[in-house]
Order: sequence, then C-alpha cells, then structure tokens
Amino acid sequence: MKPPSFPSVTVSARGEERVRGGHPWVYRTDVADANAEPGDRVLVRGARGRTIGHALFSDRSQITLRMLAYGESPADDTLIRKRLEAAIAFRESLGIEATAYRLVHGEADLMPSLIVDRYGDYLVVQALSQGMDRLLPLVVATLGELLHAAGILARNEPKTRTLEGLEQRVEVLAGDVPESVLVTENGIEYEVDVRRGQKTGLFLDQRENRAAAAQYARGRLLDCFSYNGGFALALGRRCDETIAFDISEDAIGRVRQNAARNGVAVDARVGNVFDELRGLERLRERFDTIVLDPPAFAKSKAAVAKALSGYKEINLRALKLLKPGGTLVTCSCSYNVNESMFAEVVYDAAVDAQAHVTVVEKRMQGRDHPVLLGVPETYYLKCFILRKLA
Ligand code: SAH
Repeated sequence: MKPPSFPSVTVSARGEERVRGGHPWVYRTDVADANAEPGDRVLVRGARGRTIGHALFSDRSQITLRMLAYGESPADDTLIRKRLEAAIAFRESLGIEATAYRLVHGEADLMPSLIVDRYGDYLVVQALSQGMDRLLPLVVATLGELLHAAGILARNEPKTRTLEGLEQRVEVLAGDVPESVLVTENGIEYEVDVRRGQKTGLFLDQRENRAAAAQYARGRLLDCFSYNGGFALALGRRCDETIAFDISEDAIGRVRQNAARNGVAVDARVGNVFDELRGLERLRERFDTIVLDPPAFAKSKAAVAKALSGYKEINLRALKLLKPGGTLVTCSCSYNVNESMFAEVVYDAAVDAQAHVTVVEKRMQGRDHPVLLGVPETYYLKCFILRKLA
C-alpha cells in the first residue's frame, strides 16, 4: 500500500529548536512556509528541509502546528488508533478507584487538543483545534470500538474553539447519553450532568487530592468552592459536621442531592466565599478541617496580581478560622500562578494570620492528567495539605 502523503509545512530554525526541546506547539511566527488547508494533518519540515514529524495544522490560531508524531513515522489512522490504545492502557494500569476519570489528556497523550473523559459507560469528548475537530469522527469510531461505550457526547462549547474558527456546540456523536449519569469515586456516588456540568461534568483532576485530604479530615469541616460536593462528601464521611459553600445555586442543589444519596450530612449553602469567610470570622466560628478549591483566579498573565491577592485573602481568613492542629487543604488551578508563587502567597497569608504552618503534602492534578515535561502550562493544579501548629 502506498503510504499516505501529507501536505507540508516548513518551520523556522527557532520553531525547529522549540520542537526538539520537547514543546508540542509551533507558533505562526515560527512558520516559514505552509502549503495546507485548515485542519490538515501535515508533514513538518525543518529550515533545511529535514523531516521533523507530523502535526495538526491551523490557519486561524496563533498556534499553527500541534505535533502529533516525531521523526519519520506518518500520522496515519493507525497512529491515531495506537495513541488512543496507549492512553487507555495507561489509565487502566493506574488502578483508579473510580468509574469517572480522564482517558485522554491532550498533548500529554500525544493527542493535542483532545480531551476524553469517561463517566461510567459514557464518554465525553472535546476537540479544541481545527485539526482535532477534523479527526473527531475517526476518534469517536475508534473509541467506540475500543471501549464499547453506550454513548459519546461532544462538549465542544469551550471558548477556545472560537479562536480556531470552530463553532461551539454540544451534541451526541454516538449511541445515547442520558440527562444524568451515575458514577462512583472512592466509594462515593455522584449524579453527574455531563451536558451542562462544569468542565465535562466533574472536576476529575481532584480525585486523588480528595482521597489524600480525607486521611486528615476530622471534626468540623468547611468546604469552600464546593461545586457539587467533591471534597465535602469525601472528607465529610470522617467529620462530625460539614458546611459547604458555592456561589452557584445549581451546584449547591447537587451537593444536597449527592449528600442525601450517600448518607453524609452536609449543610450546603449558596454564598460568595469571600463574604462568607468574613462572616464566619465575625461569628468567631472555628473549624478543624478547611478546603479551599477556588476557580482559576488568573485566567491570563495580566490577571496574576489580582489573583494573588485573592488567594492571599482566602488563605489568610481560612488560617484564622482553623483551630490549632487543624488541616487546611488549599488549591490553585491557575497555570499562570506557578507552584512557587502559590507557595509564597500561602506563606504570606500564614505570616499575616500569625499561624505556624507545616506542609504535610504537596500535590498536583491526578495521574490521569499527567504533566508534560517542558510545558510548564500543563502543571496547572497545585494542592497543598497544611497543618496549623499554633
Ligand atoms: N471543589 C470542587 C471544584 C470547585 S470548582 C470539586 O472538588 O469538585 C470552583 C467552584 O467555585 C465552582 O463550582 C464555582 O461555582 C464556585 N465559585 C466561583 N466563585 C465563587 C465565589 N466567589 N464564592 C463561592 N463559590 C464560587
């Protein structure tokens, strides 16, 4: 059989150097010559004409090329299948204590801009570039064969798709997908709205942090930014009393449903955490265990300074509300705030709270969302488990 032939794109010396340094993207300014249509799989050549590998081409995004394969081997349909098989086999090898987890994590699985999450018998996919959007029918057919999913839903509504000139839409691509799907995580059952829930339904990246944090949970628990109760339920099982706050009424409704389903008592309240922490301080309330898992405060570099003051404020207030000997689980999912910046902000908060604090565990996103070395942006979730000494 004749090997497939791909259109080719030539990159500059700088682009070639970046790719050799492990970065999976080539920006428009590093492309010397492109002979391709939007969303094509292309052969990538270096400045001197040498083959570097294969990539997905975009004519709209600042990111023109997303590397699919390195060296001579072609990025044909067989390669796509092998990539999916490898991603699935890796997740199976992890022994994950849940029926919901990430199967494909984009660049970290050499499937750039593709997300595949499993929720029991159903899959939720996101294709976030022109090239991956074109590959989606092949990806869906292959996943169907490999996993025998009962239904596959595309949550293709993230804003980043508009940067690629793609439309935002949610649609069932295979089988049927019910309004809500029941999954279990570390022995807790969750009812998930995969069509409308945040992310693809659950914050799957926190699964292992919930399990780790549960080991220290006791007494009075305060779960801030609870969403549908991930931490409140996992930790609340070991506590005497649990209060959860989220600004979204819908999320708090789900906390109550999930709490009832699992027989965990949770006092779930709609509220703005910034105001609520102040209110609790005024009332001189005290807690043994506090979780802070806010949304990404710094969605861009420009927002970093304001984000840092937000992180400092909630950590300071939480440390004041915490009893000596208590545990603070504090997270940041802003990739623009790196681990050392976050550590510094938490330290500043401890100084202002006049609290002596030890770091018991430093954690990150779960193993099904691995970090790609050389791409610091992929280490986005930081989770510190801290103990207040006095
Ligand atoms: N801890 C959750 C995930 C939290 S995601 C889990 O383990 O699943 C962040 C949540 O913060 C979202 O549900 C969002 O509705 C909520 N949120 C955003 N701003 C808020 C604010 N100022 N006060 C309270 N909740 C807020």
